[in-house]
Amino acid sequence: MANIVFLSDSTKFYCFFLITSHGFIVLKMLKTLKSYFGYNSFRPQQEEIITHLLNKKDALVLMPTGGGKSICYQIPALMMEGTAIIVSPLISLMKDQVEALKSNGIQAAALNSNNTDSQNLDIRFDCRMGHLKLLYISPERLMLETDRLLKEIKISLFAIDEAHCISQWGHDFRPEYTQLGHLKEEFPDVPIVALTATADKTTREDILQQLNLNSPKIFLTSFDRPNLSLEVKGGLVEKDKIKTILRFIDKRPRECGIIYCMTRKTTEKVALKLRQEGYMAGVYHAGLSSKERDLIQEDFINDRINIICATIAFGMGIDKSNVRWVIHYNLPKSIENFYQEIGRAGRDGLPSDTLLFYSVKDIITLTQFANDSGQQSLNIDKLKLMQEYAEARVCRRRILLNYFSENSNCHCGNCDNCKNPPQTFDGTVLVQKALSAIARAGENITNQAVIDILRGKYSPEVVEKGLDKLKTFGVGRDVPGRDWQNYMLQMLQLGYYEIAYSDNKHLKITTLGKEVLFGNAKATLALHVEKEEKKQDITNKKKRNKPILSPTVPILMDVEDDSLFEKLRELRKKLADEQGYPAYIVLSDKVLHSLATIKPQTIHEFGEISGIGEFKKEKYGDKFVSLIQRHLS
Ligand code: ADP
Ligand code: ZN
Repeated sequence: MANIVFLSDSTKFYCFFLITSHGFIVLKMLKTLKSYFGYNSFRPQQEEIITHLLNKKDALVLMPTGGGKSICYQIPALMMEGTAIIVSPLISLMKDQVEALKSNGIQAAALNSNNTDSQNLDIRFDCRMGHLKLLYISPERLMLETDRLLKEIKISLFAIDEAHCISQWGHDFRPEYTQLGHLKEEFPDVPIVALTATADKTTREDILQQLNLNSPKIFLTSFDRPNLSLEVKGGLVEKDKIKTILRFIDKRPRECGIIYCMTRKTTEKVALKLRQEGYMAGVYHAGLSSKERDLIQEDFINDRINIICATIAFGMGIDKSNVRWVIHYNLPKSIENFYQEIGRAGRDGLPSDTLLFYSVKDIITLTQFANDSGQQSLNIDKLKLMQEYAEARVCRRRILLNYFSENSNCHCGNCDNCKNPPQTFDGTVLVQKALSAIARAGENITNQAVIDILRGKYSPEVVEKGLDKLKTFGVGRDVPGRDWQNYMLQMLQLGYYEIAYSDNKHLKITTLGKEVLFGNAKATLALHVEKEEKKQDITNKKKRNKPILSPTVPILMDVEDDSLFEKLRELRKKLADEQGYPAYIVLSDKVLHSLATIKPQTIHEFGEISGIGEFKKEKYGDKFVSLIQRHLS
């Protein structure tokens, strides 16, 4: 028999009331989203998180970079009575967020040591008068203000941004963050939301424990960033890396990107090479003064230079939404680092590209770093996983997602392995030649010396050790040096030889390697091809200064007009410079692409574009619409 539930009239009314009252709140949330931010719908989990905070409950939000964390506390801040206090670790991050909010007509400010005393006085006054909906503050300042300003105002919620900074296990530990544990005692009725893009389980538990959250709900969204393409190139010599980079940026004229390098010296070397070729490339590393670093960062944010060659010191304070690509000139030391760094591309959700180089040399250097670090086995394990990612022949996104405990067997279609599955060939003879060179040299030579012997090159190590007398000297002349680099890397991956770190990084043949060397096993190698790109090279040179868009920009109903896009970009830059804002704060790249495609010709149509709220419609509508009208006529 079917279950029939009879409801009394009063229960029906109560249910109806609950449904409509929730529905009413959701409508109000959507209205706030549309009028301030110009978006029509929430992304996964945003609605649930906002509802949870509006119900004054604590939460931990784990979302990847660019996932849309800010909206999760900004919408409740706008809907609730009082001021939301946002704890943020860096002044540059606060500045960016406040500018973005103000550019949408929202009352926000940042209380920090960069302001003058009178600016801070004004901000306090505005807070007390209830004029500010969001106040950004550093953790040290927050502690100073706990018994002062914070006790005098109505606080709607606390948001702890970059919450992983509280944990010693995370990669950006900030001792000041540990004091935030007192907030719950001092303000037991104010909801706290902690937000981070670090999904590591230990860090997550540490955040919950240290913040003393009250029965918090954890919101974990997928860490996938489908808009980021993934590509790896192993075993390239320096000269070819630079050539590949030039090809890569030639295909993306005027787009902004970051090149991460392992050392300060490399950042300078790469930037110099790019500048010699006419590119606007800057350098960022911890060896520069803080003033120099701020200047270069500002230049990048404001599109005065479009390429930054940096060490890992760069990026934490960068909220720039239109970074279109990230290149790793060297292998990073862990997947967390790698994912965080590539995550700086494509925060606006538009297609963006990532390219990782790695070589035997990187592995040697990083292994040494790990060995010398205080946590040797942990760091070696992390490096091994990073290396496995770089060497993978299956979908790379699958590896990343699995690393973040999202079990996946996807075939993403947006990584090099999905797009061009590697072709293999019988490389037994090649492997035998290389291993035989190692064996004949008494396993007392480095990777480079093996290649020199095979290619018959009289390099200092070869001559000094008399290796030119070996039978294997010159037996690999038919294979170019760059291919040998690649095959040597593959042989290391396949476990045919090891690097003895305790013995001058000399190569030692493994049991597996001996099997191949003595003809008892076959070796399969992946073909190393660079030819296809060379063809493209020539075509691209011709187009060098012509703006071309990434071919994967979403196809909207209409066709995007490239020359209109450039005009819109210029107008955006002009308006941004006039106000002292970065261009992406005025309008995002995504909005600009939509404008160049939909081509709105009335202010009303302009306001319908996703990402344009009421304030921007009023402020910029007529300027952009008249530009589009002029262009079309
Ligand atoms: P995070 O802080 O997680 O790195 P942001 O909050 O900066 O990410 O959001 C990334 C981008 O996504 C921003 O450009 C933001 O405006 C946009 N965004 C956020 N929520 C939505 C939404 N519901 N619809 C469309 N775009 C959104
Ligand atoms: Zn893939």
